[in-house]
Amino acid sequence: QEDPRLEKIAAAIRVIPDFPKPGILFQDITTLLLDTKAFRDTIDMFVERYRDQNVNVVAGVEARGFIFGPPIALAIGAKFVPMRKPNKLPGEVISEEYSLEYGTDKMEMHVGAVQPGERALIIDDLIATGGTLGAAIKLLERVGVHVVECACVIELPELKGREKLGGKPLFVLVKGG
Ligand code: AMP
Repeated sequence: QEDPRLEKIAAAIRVIPDFPKPGILFQDITTLLLDTKAFRDTIDMFVERYRDQNVNVVAGVEARGFIFGPPIALAIGAKFVPMRKPNKLPGEVISEEYSLEYGTDKMEMHVGAVQPGERALIIDDLIATGGTLGAAIKLLERVGVHVVECACVIELPELKGREKLGGKPLFVLVKGG
C-alpha cells in the first residue's frame, strides 16, 4: 500500500524536456518547494524513516542536497555536512574524483567535519547514473564513517544508478523516466 502523500509529491515535481541539453528530461524540484504541503510531506517522510536509526550526520550533495538535507538534519538531531563541488570549501578538504558522461568531476568535504564511527545518511534530490552518490559514499567511508543509507526524492531507474552504490541501500520517494 503506497503512502497517500506520494501522489502529490510526484505531481509537484515539474518535468522540463531538453534541459540543460537536448534529450534530457529535467526533473525540477523547485516547484515542489512552492507547494508547502508537498514540501513538508517530503521532509516528514525522510524524518519518519531516519529518526530512530542513530544517524548523526546528514551529508547533503551540492546543490539540491543542500535544500532537503538541513531540515531533515535538524528534525532528527544530526549535524549537516555539505559535500561540495571543487574549490568551494575554504578549509582543508579531502576529495573524491568520479566520472561523468564526458570527463570527470570532483567532490570535496571538510576534514574534521565527520569522525570515524559516525553514522551518515547521504541525501540528494535525484539519482541518475549513481556516480555522484557513489563518490559521496567513498568519501565518507574513507574517513571511517558508516553510511546507513542514501536517500533521494527521485530515482531514474532506467539508468541503474543503484548498482553504483556498492551495495549500500537507496531509499527514494518517486520514480521518474
Ligand atoms: P548521477 O551522478 O548521474 O546520479 O546524477 C545525479 C546528479 O545530477 C544529481 O545531483 C541531480 O541533481 C543531477 N541530475 C541528473 N540527471 C537529472 C535530471 N534528469 N533532472 C534533474 N537533475 C538531474
